[in-house]
Amino acid sequence: MKRKKIVAGNWKMNKKLLEAMRLSTEVIRAAGKLANGSVEVVLAPPAVYLHTTISMGKRVPQIKVAAQNCHHEASGAYTGEIAAPMLQSMEIDYVIIGHSERRKYFHEDHALLQQKVNTALAAGLSIIFCCGEPLDVREKEEQEQYVLQQLQESLFHLSADQWSKVVIAYEPVWAIGTGKTASPAQAQAMHAFIRQAVAKQYESKLADQLSILYGGSVKPSNATEIFANTDVDGGLIGGAALDTDSFMAIVKAIL
Ligand code: PEP
Repeated sequence: MKRKKIVAGNWKMNKKLLEAMRLSTEVIRAAGKLANGSVEVVLAPPAVYLHTTISMGKRVPQIKVAAQNCHHEASGAYTGEIAAPMLQSMEIDYVIIGHSERRKYFHEDHALLQQKVNTALAAGLSIIFCCGEPLDVREKEEQEQYVLQQLQESLFHLSADQWSKVVIAYEPVWAIGTGKTASPAQAQAMHAFIRQAVAKQYESKLADQLSILYGGSVKPSNATEIFANTDVDGGLIGGAALDTDSFMAIVKAIL
């Protein structure tokens, strides 16, 4: 089976309603012109726009919608939070779990992320699980050990069957929103390492089918060389996903 190519746009906490609707409309229209099955174009708007986005994208099979976060419990007295079963009931496809901004600003640790992974998968969602090392770890050349621990502590308890709903995004923290991108060789090395680690823990067939996305200052000018690597199956895009032309240029770079 060929691995799924995925380009996901994480809008983070950006865009007012009309701006969000305009961006969704434009991306959905452009994605609808791509050959069906060639790439999954994932939109991850702020939660308040999920319903609008899913309604707008419903008829375009190339479009999938992701939430940027979910709570670790399936329901309960957690004012202001969003539960995975709610997302599933809206027909949301993915939830992003473990983004470095949530790890840093909301102190989400391995154990909490493991709970989120479990709750999301139990609700029937697919997950985009983010991992990646900070700069000081990269400078000490300890990035493989660091990323392996992230996988071991939040994902490696899953059964082999559950992995059909898992996508990994490797996002070196030092490259997110900084304009610095991992070199194509650095990205390929880490993606190959992640795939080998999954193969070792499970089996190579499962690892071969796992889509691993790169994230960290991907732009139209560097997307082609990053996506050209054997183990890079797409991207998780932040800043460049806020503009239709730059996002679609990145999407087209993987075709
Ligand atoms: C991200 O937040 O996942 C990301 C990769 O951001 P940026 O593309 O802006 O670096």
